[in-house]
Amino acid sequence: MPIVRLSEVSKSYPPSKRGAAPLVAVDTVSLDIEAGDIFGIIGYSGAGKSTLVRLINALEPVTGGTVEVDGRVISGLRERQLHDVRRGIGMIFQQFNLFNSRTVAGNVEYPLQVAGMPAAERKARVAEMLEFVGLAGKARNYPDQLSGGQKQRVGIARALATNPKILLADEATSALDPETTTEVLALLKKVNRELGITIVLITHEMEVIKAVANRVAVMDSGRVIEQGSVFDVFSDPQTDAAKRFVSTVIRAVPEREALEQLRLKHPGRIVTVSFADGGVSQSEVFLEFANHGVTFELVYGGVNEIQGRTFGHLTLALKGDRIDAALAAISRTVSVTEVR
Ligand code: ADP
Repeated sequence: MPIVRLSEVSKSYPPSKRGAAPLVAVDTVSLDIEAGDIFGIIGYSGAGKSTLVRLINALEPVTGGTVEVDGRVISGLRERQLHDVRRGIGMIFQQFNLFNSRTVAGNVEYPLQVAGMPAAERKARVAEMLEFVGLAGKARNYPDQLSGGQKQRVGIARALATNPKILLADEATSALDPETTTEVLALLKKVNRELGITIVLITHEMEVIKAVANRVAVMDSGRVIEQGSVFDVFSDPQTDAAKRFVSTVIRAVPEREALEQLRLKHPGRIVTVSFADGGVSQSEVFLEFANHGVTFELVYGGVNEIQGRTFGHLTLALKGDRIDAALAAISRTVSVTEVR
């Protein structure tokens, strides 16, 4: 049983003008998030990611479909029961959302006070959480005195203080520099590995997904247009939007500019052949070209590793009379894309 299950979930907002169509922010989305996943949701601004998060943490009701969290259908629950659901979900934000008038310890303590935990227990729990995120020495400092990365560590300690099963991270590293992003992502991995917390990562940065997620869903105009293991989506994206996102971190498929250069040099046919671990070997593919009297030059490409598995894309400029027959034979076993 997945820890979060969305079945045909939709959310629309009333139109801003009378007579206009309602705004569909989330459009019949179905996805399963398994306990222990680091599940990435990627999309451009306006794709519907934040709305989806508000549906998962029961801040807003769906207008269609069902949301199940930890085995419980949350649509139709009363406010009191929704409180319980929300308590099982921690949340961190792009702008950290810390209380500036409270110390670091005071921020982490806040949700424990709300939950009614006795003072002595709270103190111990705050110390434990600050230790976990590497900020034991900053307990008495105020948020203003911290770097962005440290603020997000406080955010994580606060989100996890009440021991939730799920952590929702909404663009949690988008305000941080690359080095700090790496540190915070490493901490999220530790949260997942050592505390067994399921993490849902909302981001517009493919780098973030590549670094920590095991599964990913690509959102576009309110819909999930592609989802799967990070390896599958990165090594063989199916939709144009997913391809665009993947191309921001995998420079193995030529972009327009590189392609124009290639075209000038190689007026003939150019194809990109994609390989993955456990698939057909490169030599088998090359042999097939040779069998059809097709010669080639390797003009672009690269090999990548994700989740411990390798894949690559090799772009070849082809010459010969039987190119179509060769491509037909090869495309039975590997993915071949003609570059036009
Ligand atoms: P993302 O997080 O991917 O940037 P959002 O979920 O914030 O996307 O927004 C998706 C769409 O829903 C956008 O067109 C946005 O303007 C619209 N939207 C989001 N929240 C509301 C709201 N409370 N009322 C009306 N429209 C909204």
